[in-house]
Amino acid sequence: MRLLLLSDIHSNLEALEACLAAAPAHDVVVNLGDIVGYGASPNEVTERSRGLGKLFVRGNHDKAATGLMDISDFNPVAGLAALWTRDKLKSENLEWLRALPHGPMQIDDLPNVQFVHGSPVDEDEYVVTLQDALEPLLVSTVPVTFFGHTHLQGGFSTNHSSTDDYRPVYKTVGQNETRDFPLKEGVRYLINPGSVGQPRDGDWRAAFALFDSDARLVTFCRTPYNLKGAQDRIVAANLPQRLATRLAAGR
Ligand code: ZN
Repeated sequence: MRLLLLSDIHSNLEALEACLAAAPAHDVVVNLGDIVGYGASPNEVTERSRGLGKLFVRGNHDKAATGLMDISDFNPVAGLAALWTRDKLKSENLEWLRALPHGPMQIDDLPNVQFVHGSPVDEDEYVVTLQDALEPLLVSTVPVTFFGHTHLQGGFSTNHSSTDDYRPVYKTVGQNETRDFPLKEGVRYLINPGSVGQPRDGDWRAAFALFDSDARLVTFCRTPYNLKGAQDRIVAANLPQRLATRLAAGR
């Protein structure tokens, strides 16, 4: 089975459309959460994501925008964007987002793979460093976990005697590019496809990944998108300017 892994789209329609146009052939779309928040196209992105199916986990921004989580934990810019999103969402989209499931989620035919937003231990936990990855890698009974939340493309692994981390290195800053990451037998993995709509690894291009479960191959992808279009919408919506400028920096 070939899975298209999308995470942290954050209401960025231009980035989502670019990923879908660049994505290689796939059988199933898996969405790791934070469909909304920060960007200016919450309804369009919710409807597009919903249409793609088939498996979803909720993100903290999906919870905040739909009133499932107190925004007092958010920084002021994120809190403002969550309130703006709540105000703009059509009621049917808000209800759909509110009903998204808590991870980990699994696909029937793939018992060795699970999907979460933050971590298999806690859906709101950030797995940024190898140290952060140790507990989820060691306690999880499922060998391969796909996660989001940090907006950092890459992964962590352990073979029970040593642990490792991986970040794809690309040649350009503006082209469509891919990096293959073959999974080994007997190794546990935590893998983040990166953020579609608000990358934070210094690369402005939209990030996503493909997983071929038969070949045990993850392919990390970056694709340029209509950055100016996404920024203009944020400015026109009177969302904080910083949400537009950070997209260009990939931070
Ligand atoms: Zn996010």
